[in-house]
Amino acid sequence: MNQDPSQKESPRLANVLVAASLRADQWRHLNAAARAWAGGGANAAQGRERCTKQFAEAMRLEQCWAYPGERLLAALRQALADGDAALFARLVQKVSSAILSGDYRRDENAWELDDDLDRNVLDALPPDILGVQDKPYFEVLVVTPADPAQWLRSKDEMRRMRRAEDPFHYAVVHAGSFEDAALAMIVNHDLQAVVLVDGFGFSSHHDIPDLKDFVSRHVSLDADDVRPGTMSLTLARTIKNSRPELDLYLLTDRAPESVAGSDEAAPLRRVFHHVEEPMEIHLSIIDGVNDRYETPYFDNLKKYAMRPIGTFHALPIARGKSIFGSNWIRDMGHFYGTNILFAESSATTGGLDSLLEPTGNIKRAQNAVARAFGAKRAYLGTNGTSTSNKIVVQAVCKPGDIVIVDRNCHKSHHYGFVLSGAQPYYVEAFPLTQYSMYGAVPLRTIKQALLDCAAGGKLDRVKVVDMTNCTFDGHMYNPRRVMEECLAIKPDLIFLWDEAWFGFARFNPMHRRRTAMGAAAVLTQRYHSQAYRDEYAAWKAKRGEFDPADPALLDERLLPDPDRVRIRVYQTNSTHKSMSAFRQGSMMLVWDEDFHHVEGPFEEAFFAHTSTSPNLQLIASLDLARRQMELEGYGLTLRMTDLALKIRRAINTHPLISKYFRVATPEDMIPAEFRESGLRDYGPPDSSWLDAIEALDHDEFALDPTRLTLICGAAGFDGTQFKGLLAERFDIQINKTSRNSVLVQTNINNTHSDAALLIKALADLSREIESRLAQGGALDRTVFDDRVRALMTDVPDLPNFSRFHDAFRDQPDGASNEGHMRPAFFMAYDEDNCEYVRLGSEDIDKRLRDGPEMVSANFVIPYPPGFPIMVPGQVIGADTIAFMRKLDVKEIHGYHAAQGIKLIKPSALAGRRAGSLH
Ligand SMILES: *Cc1c(COP(=O)(O)O)cnc(C)c1O
Repeated sequence: MNQDPSQKESPRLANVLVAASLRADQWRHLNAAARAWAGGGANAAQGRERCTKQFAEAMRLEQCWAYPGERLLAALRQALADGDAALFARLVQKVSSAILSGDYRRDENAWELDDDLDRNVLDALPPDILGVQDKPYFEVLVVTPADPAQWLRSKDEMRRMRRAEDPFHYAVVHAGSFEDAALAMIVNHDLQAVVLVDGFGFSSHHDIPDLKDFVSRHVSLDADDVRPGTMSLTLARTIKNSRPELDLYLLTDRAPESVAGSDEAAPLRRVFHHVEEPMEIHLSIIDGVNDRYETPYFDNLKKYAMRPIGTFHALPIARGKSIFGSNWIRDMGHFYGTNILFAESSATTGGLDSLLEPTGNIKRAQNAVARAFGAKRAYLGTNGTSTSNKIVVQAVCKPGDIVIVDRNCHKSHHYGFVLSGAQPYYVEAFPLTQYSMYGAVPLRTIKQALLDCAAGGKLDRVKVVDMTNCTFDGHMYNPRRVMEECLAIKPDLIFLWDEAWFGFARFNPMHRRRTAMGAAAVLTQRYHSQAYRDEYAAWKAKRGEFDPADPALLDERLLPDPDRVRIRVYQTNSTHKSMSAFRQGSMMLVWDEDFHHVEGPFEEAFFAHTSTSPNLQLIASLDLARRQMELEGYGLTLRMTDLALKIRRAINTHPLISKYFRVATPEDMIPAEFRESGLRDYGPPDSSWLDAIEALDHDEFALDPTRLTLICGAAGFDGTQFKGLLAERFDIQINKTSRNSVLVQTNINNTHSDAALLIKALADLSREIESRLAQGGALDRTVFDDRVRALMTDVPDLPNFSRFHDAFRDQPDGASNEGHMRPAFFMAYDEDNCEYVRLGSEDIDKRLRDGPEMVSANFVIPYPPGFPIMVPGQVIGADTIAFMRKLDVKEIHGYHAAQGIKLIKPSALAGRRAGSLH
């Protein structure tokens, strides 16, 4: 365990997710080695040799960052060559601490050699500091055919352009080839802009044997694929695919006006002629970053708060007057501070705009959200995704429309169907009985539902497929494949992807391929390509017309008709769950080629559900969350993924902890039939990152590594108990539990210290269990084993959705199961229609056996697991009763133990059957 860190081999890049964290380690190791060398000791030659080796390791990727840059690196190299251990150690110390602390962003001195070093070098530095300490810092990648010997001069040239009035400052990093640029684009989280200077070649100038593997995770390309003369544009397209937020500029000798007009120039922000004023480029770079930095709503709100305004509108709290003058609630003002009160208003004047009818800065904020999240349109929600889901459901469905929906989805969808009168066709996710949770709905099941509706002659009524991506427990769909195959059956289907947990995913290229908007973009491009037309024509010729009754369709990969297919995708996300927004901050993203048909109803639904007093601070925080993600989401989401992977590894390989605790792997969470790649776990020894990418690209389901199902049953804790223990003893808060697990979510705010806290807690608990079992006798051991068995093996089967009662179905004998939930829901408003049966009573068993059927009058939702085990109008089956009887949770919405289960009386059902079927 106490191995000298400087002796460790660097991991192969194939196993590295975030090169920045590898880099920090390498500089730490180098620092240790340099100190040892400088400290003298027995073997100076050995010390120097180790430094040489460590230095070479660290240098493999160092060209990707602007800091420390050529000058400091040259001085380091020189000191090593001269055998000057003291100087080498001092410089390494300086550079590594600047890298680890990030001081080089703020402190100009970090970039300079020490005073007593070469004066000539120092004098060559530009004298200006221009108050950079307070300005946000970023880096600009310049990809150029110029001789590397000139790079330093060109850097100094760019530095001289800085002006005191620039809102940001930046440093330049150079790359000399396509491959080197791709590498820098991947590893350097500080990049905000890339300047492409026409004329560079493809192959790397550096000797990095595993570079190709590393780069090919994001970029699959060979030199041979690049048409002559299109290197810059190909690189631009490649970068846009991986990091769409970056601004791209092209400097070219060719007539810029003709380049600028071509489709291939679309990813570029601007095209310059080679001899352009460098100042123009500098200003464009600043301007580009400023476009993302700008938060139209928040910026105005800050201005508004500072103006002296007398208020005569309804909001006494505004400007704090009712608070700071009060005898009794002054502490409210002290606690919240003045700004939040100065920023409160019920006016829509003063440039505050109206969320219900945005024309000004809210509209601009929404446009910025659409841009950042890769949507065609975006709407801000201030009532949580609970309301955003109802808005979208109501906007796209009218009474009688059928929605194919995961029964296990958030309750807002179910309530949305009641409100809109849409008929849910419930489909089941695959069960993970051993953890008492569900996975996600197999594509085969969704296709079966569509084909059942087709067979029943009601495919035209199927309006929406509604799924949760990713699920609470981290199951990510393959939205691209789901949509493609569903669109083959019905080309104008609408998809609602509830990405409540998954808003951040856009900014991590690993996750983005599994997002709704990412898939919408890929499919749109695909269906507009000639290559797809050819693929479709060939497939069509082979397969012929399809008959919905043909079971072969379920296993065949279906393709939609490019002349009929419409891309109609809606996404909702709880911005507050994965980004820096206040609670209830939510977004609705739209990519709908037929939105002109939906816009009116969407507005109605938005009006129906949105408060006329939306919270200004929420709107501002959504604006800011977007700014953050667009400027640093890439680095934040990659680091959080890296941290999650480290926690997974630390727990599952710890000799003591892993006896009692375990983080569920992809293999545990996804049955093999949905994991075609065979990926068992992330990272060695199970996989390299290329394997993981293969799985993320193609498998039917993949596991979001940032969501950790921590199994605590083998330690004798049920989920609820363990959650309480973590909170009380260790100040660790978690949210979701199952019978034998808790869910640990990593987020953009988590640090290595948080990870350490969790791991320490698990180690402490494991030691306690260990010593308790050692001290106790055989009886204690038996009690413990029984408890573990009860939690881990003796788990209740999860009940499937049975069916709607015939009184709520149009075709009681049809294969499709959609039903009228709304009338069932409202029948229960009349107590005369209802009766109750106690869970423990024999009545229930008798009715299950002899009838009449028991029909639920309302939603029954136990927490955990949090999905409805009964919905209004559903026939209650024996498995549901068995599940409820085994369920040992306290919170069950829609069920009161003293009263029993609320049912619709058989007589009321008979009345409805006679009277009201259409
Ligand atoms: C949390 C959640 C919601 C509701 O979002 P709020 O922002 O809490 O209203 C909807 N769907 C899913 C899948 C969720 O996890």
